Amino acid sequence: MVKYVFITGGVMSGIGKGVTAASLGKILQSRGMSVTAIKVDPYLNVDAGTMNPYIHGEVFVTEDGGETDMDLGTYERFLDINIPKDHNITTGLIYLSVIGKERKGELLGICVQIIPHITNEIKNKIRSITKKSKVDCTIVEIGGTVGDIESLPFLEAARQMRLEEGSRNVINVHVTLVPVLEAVGEQKTKPTQHSVQELRRIGIQPDAVVVRSEIPLKDEPRRKIALFCNIEERAVFTSPDIKSIYEVPLILDKQGLGDYLSDRMNVKLKKPEWKNWRNMLEGFTDPKYEIKIAMCGKYAELADSYVSINEALRHAGAINNASINIDWVETEIFENKPSRISDLENYHGILVPGGFGSRGTEGKIMAISYAHKQNIPFLGICFGFQMAIVEFARHIGIVEANSAEVNPRTEHPVVDLMPEQRAIEDKGATMRLGADKINLQSGTIAHRLYGKKMIVERHRHRYEANGEYLDRLQEAGLIFSGKSPDGLRMEILELKDNQFHFATQFHGEFKSRPNRPSPPYVGFIAASLKRALELS
Ligand code: GLN
Repeated sequence: MVKYVFITGGVMSGIGKGVTAASLGKILQSRGMSVTAIKVDPYLNVDAGTMNPYIHGEVFVTEDGGETDMDLGTYERFLDINIPKDHNITTGLIYLSVIGKERKGELLGICVQIIPHITNEIKNKIRSITKKSKVDCTIVEIGGTVGDIESLPFLEAARQMRLEEGSRNVINVHVTLVPVLEAVGEQKTKPTQHSVQELRRIGIQPDAVVVRSEIPLKDEPRRKIALFCNIEERAVFTSPDIKSIYEVPLILDKQGLGDYLSDRMNVKLKKPEWKNWRNMLEGFTDPKYEIKIAMCGKYAELADSYVSINEALRHAGAINNASINIDWVETEIFENKPSRISDLENYHGILVPGGFGSRGTEGKIMAISYAHKQNIPFLGICFGFQMAIVEFARHIGIVEANSAEVNPRTEHPVVDLMPEQRAIEDKGATMRLGADKINLQSGTIAHRLYGKKMIVERHRHRYEANGEYLDRLQEAGLIFSGKSPDGLRMEILELKDNQFHFATQFHGEFKSRPNRPSPPYVGFIAASLKRALELS
């Protein structure tokens, strides 16, 4: 029998439900179960691609070109599997599909309703994804907080699934927050009690509660949660604040979560295998060096909007035995006060991430130029790659060079809209999205970092290096070390004379895993470490 674990959240959002869901999957995986994960997002957008990342968090791009919720990235990093785009289910997607059927006449004569048509659609999706994935267990994380009106149909579907699949095959885990009152250090359980009450009111009795709290849960609050939430004391787990998120599976398993889940599922699983994970963790929890990276972009966006980049830097740090300190540097400051560019001098590496629009771009170009001239390790990602082309073009005398995105009337659009983008008007899922093959040129930094000639990386963009300027740029020393197999699309640039001046049109961060860091990030951090040691 296939098992389903539904993860719900209580008290408030942003308490690490995604990490808990991923950790739970890891715990089952460590016992030999094959696992996949689904993220349910109760909003009406069809996908995350049209939402503001500074409010909602990063848009994660899957191998098959989905623009999804960032939790899919967390699942991929923990479970070390590629998760297809249909594993992100939104209310918009469910309604689109049901209304599509109604319009086609597939539901003729029927009054189409939330129960059963929407709830059936949700259950069908969860089951068909599970079947297609051929796994022993699917983790389904329901976004939002219990008590929200918009998540009700999903919770109702979860309730029905337990009835239909059997109580041993559908497990409910509730993740809540236990705040600590500063004055007395007391852990308060009332919000947890109330959110579980709300869950039980709609017919879901959690099998386990995972509590996020600054410190491990003390005995008395644990007893209270068990009593008021109607669960055994051994079914209350805590996930306290820790150094690295990758410790969470071990912390929860140590409290008996794996054994408890296999009891509840009535399955005999093998002893957990944590050796490799533990070895990997050492680089994260006990690093020898410290590296300071300047992340140069528009206003100090939420750290959440570049989660995959932050993680990729940490993965690359761990393998280089270094912890990574990321400072957000607002590039508009350089535009208003050019002398402030020397703020960057004290950093070991300069990173210009992906982005859209024109605000702050001149400042980004100034940062790249500073890295270029001062020989400070530089990594550019997507928009950062495009701005590195603009910077190089200006450096060799094409002073008017720009991206057509930044200035549509520029005389020298060294970065221009991709030809196939010209006729597109819709904004949803219309960029160049997902994984494509890239050929690497022998003897380049790119080739050395990847250790092979053909790679596959993920994309999300509309603009690209303009073919008309390539000869001029290359003759002047810019190396395009990665190109599409037909040779027409520029994917990686590097400079020979700099220690590490490297940028990619693709997003290596989406494929970075804690045990298999993304090569461009590894190269960047290794170069930054070299600079850190030179400066110290
Ligand atoms: N705005 C640029 C483009 O569409 C870069 C996109 C990105 O950085 N993801 O091509």
